[in-house]
Amino acid sequence: MKTLAEYLTEAERNHGHMCPGQVLGVRMAMLGCRLIGIEEPKVGKRLIVYVEIDRCAADAINTVTGCRLGKRTLKFRDFGKLAATFLNTETNEAVRVVARESSRELAKERFAHLPTKKAQQLEAYQTLPDEDLFLWQPVRVNLPDADKPGHPLSRVACAECGEGINDQREITRDGRTLCRACAGERYYEPVG
Ligand SMILES: [Zn+2]
Ligand SMILES: [Zn+2]
Repeated sequence: MKTLAEYLTEAERNHGHMCPGQVLGVRMAMLGCRLIGIEEPKVGKRLIVYVEIDRCAADAINTVTGCRLGKRTLKFRDFGKLAATFLNTETNEAVRVVARESSRELAKERFAHLPTKKAQQLEAYQTLPDEDLFLWQPVRVNLPDADKPGHPLSRVACAECGEGINDQREITRDGRTLCRACAGERYYEPVG
């Protein structure tokens, strides 16, 4: 594993700017990997990360772990929480790490001499111990075969729109095979 300073340099490049979310995300990922016995996150294919937020810290977690949506090693669960679960698929060990709500207040208290909230948080999140910034607990994660990296398990066509569907994401209704959009989960409306 690299040092915090090295990861922060990479995180800034990857994310486009330095922000408290980069620091928290890098720290969270380093802690999560260590807790499941992964010292070199980018070596091998045993690490899967479930990230619960699509804000700054998600990019930092990508920087440290190398886990990406396109490799199926990064799973997004839209819970709106600054939290992530790290799964070692070789040992089945998993840990969920969440940022403590109190860490913002602590940054303000301990680093009151710094001029801005951002400066206070950047300093606090780099220097406070893990225990002050995060809570964590071992968890069990069910990773279905259809969610694993590798070749798609299946590919079928939607009976309504004809579009192809990979990895058992289809829904069967009244004997018809439908994509999730045609089954009612469409997030867009065609125009024109
Ligand atoms: Zn940011
Ligand atoms: Zn369809």
